[in-house]
Amino acid sequence: MIASVFVPLSAALAGFAALVVIVLAIAWYTWSVTQRARLFRAVAEGSSDGLVLMHRDSKIIWNNRAYSRIMGYAHGELVGRYPLEFALPPRLAMSAEDVRAFRFDENDARFGTLTQMENMRKDRSEFIHEFSHAAIHVGGKRLFLLAGRDITERVAREKALVAAQERLKRQSMTDGLTGLSNRAHMQARLVELTGKRVPFTVLQIDVNRMKQVNDTFGHLAGDELLLQVARALRTEAGPTWLAARTGGDEFVVILPDVTSRAEAERIGHRLVEAASTPFKWKSARLTAEISVGVAMRDASVGSPDDLLNRSDVALYEAKKSPETPVVVYDDALDSKHTEKQAFERDVVEAVRAQGLTFHFQPIINIDSRTVEKFEMLVRWRHERRGWVAPGRFLPVISRLGLTQELDKFVIACAEKAIDRLNAAGLTDVGLAVNLSASALSSDRITELLTWLAECGRLDPARVSLEILESTALTLSGDDLPIRLLSRLREAGFTVFLDDFGMGYAGLAHLAALPSNGLKIDRGLTSMVDTDATSRSIVVAMVRLARELGLEIVAEGVENMAQMELVHRAGCSVFQGHAVARPMTLNRAITWARNDRSRATGTDG
Ligand code: C2E
Ligand code: CA
Ligand code: CA
Repeated sequence: MIASVFVPLSAALAGFAALVVIVLAIAWYTWSVTQRARLFRAVAEGSSDGLVLMHRDSKIIWNNRAYSRIMGYAHGELVGRYPLEFALPPRLAMSAEDVRAFRFDENDARFGTLTQMENMRKDRSEFIHEFSHAAIHVGGKRLFLLAGRDITERVAREKALVAAQERLKRQSMTDGLTGLSNRAHMQARLVELTGKRVPFTVLQIDVNRMKQVNDTFGHLAGDELLLQVARALRTEAGPTWLAARTGGDEFVVILPDVTSRAEAERIGHRLVEAASTPFKWKSARLTAEISVGVAMRDASVGSPDDLLNRSDVALYEAKKSPETPVVVYDDALDSKHTEKQAFERDVVEAVRAQGLTFHFQPIINIDSRTVEKFEMLVRWRHERRGWVAPGRFLPVISRLGLTQELDKFVIACAEKAIDRLNAAGLTDVGLAVNLSASALSSDRITELLTWLAECGRLDPARVSLEILESTALTLSGDDLPIRLLSRLREAGFTVFLDDFGMGYAGLAHLAALPSNGLKIDRGLTSMVDTDATSRSIVVAMVRLARELGLEIVAEGVENMAQMELVHRAGCSVFQGHAVARPMTLNRAITWARNDRSRATGTDG
């Protein structure tokens, strides 16, 4: 009985519990769906990207605030409208029929891709819209979602960045003065063309007498000259040419389409002609004279440097004579070039391995009848070439940048030579040492000399340093070279301006230079007996030097007549074949001792 009462009761309880579970489940489900819907809505509304839900024909069902803001409309204003009808600027606008006929096609390859497009806001201002579409299923229906953002600023920033990068790149490839390409750009093009293994032509151009124009009219005139050459290159340039300024007054033109020698020569002459058009500089009329070296790329050229070396050799040849301003590198030049390279190698070897020696030429005072000093003159004897004249190898030493090594070597030899003179009892005979033109462009040589003097290894009173007048003439005011010259004098060395007279216009300049004296150029001395002008120049020079308290040496006297005339002008110190030729140190010592015994009347 009890059981029969309980059974229906427990069944009712179980049914109730089940009902509660179901109700709770439904409640939880509804709550979670609502929560999720809220969450999604909050995300969609809060997104900074514009979101638009559309039908297949692009009619807007819903869009978020960001989209309204991007398009410049009030929120809700766009529902029921078509983006194709309001978002396109007039120039991209579609006809009403096309807008009506539009349907999203998710099978189209472009569907879903990220697109950037100019769109128009409500106020008709334009912006760049970056967007993509996606197809979604909602309640068994296919709907379309657009997600997009305004990227106008980003694009502007990117453009500015690209423009800045391009500007930088252009600058790094351009020569500041002429606007032509620079060396780096030329080099890159050369490497590129050489890599293609096709024939082409390179012209190397050098402006003649650039230094004189700079010295006479100033650097601005020099710049004008370079600009004139650049103008000529631009006017004559073919579309494929590359014209570059590669250094001070050097230009290189690459002609990719030119493969015949005749044409290359014709172009070279045309450039010479174009550059020589006179132009005005202040009240002067200037013309740019150029020399052109041509090298043609063929199978025998290995690297870009090879090719430039060849055009350089041709240019060197062209500069030798104004009659041939354009020279093409060919077999004949090739053998010359090979020889030039071998010569350079030998010079380097001689300098590095101390293969140079010195001859000593007496400088005497005919009044006191004494040997004042010996000039040290560098000599080179090559095992195969024999004696090579300094006039041939010194320019090579200078071109190869070895002058400092030479100067150091001369100084070291002077140190030893003074020891030898002392040992021979010639303690009052000094040495004249030639310094290279670049010795005053850094303080290295000055430092070395002052240090040797300070530590007592070299008596500065026994050493006079000879510096070419042409070098000294380019010095002015508070230049480093002037300061270095003063330092040398303070340290006790004597400084002579060598080859004086060729830059006669610089006589007035003389007073400003910290020198002790000058050596009259042998070109003048050798003509005093035959040429009246040379004679009066020498007379004027000696007088001026004496007024300035400068010592004076006449070098290159070859006969008694010359010595006599110069002596009458007031100069007593002589060097030249009339006295003695340069000789080895041993002989020079013997010569000086004999001379002394002759002067004093003693033997041996
Ligand atoms: P420089 O300093 O004017 O030297 C004088 C030159 O005239 C020497 O030529 C000498 O041999 C030559 N000479 C001397 N007397 C007579 C003469 O009566 N008649 C003629 N016709 N010539 C005479 P060298 O030895 O050929 O030297 C040429 C130039 O080379 C020198 O001219 C000097 O500028 C430079 N040089 C020589 N040795 C050195 C050196 O050790 N270092 C540097 N940096 N340059 C040097
Ligand atoms: Ca000299
Ligand atoms: Ca000289």
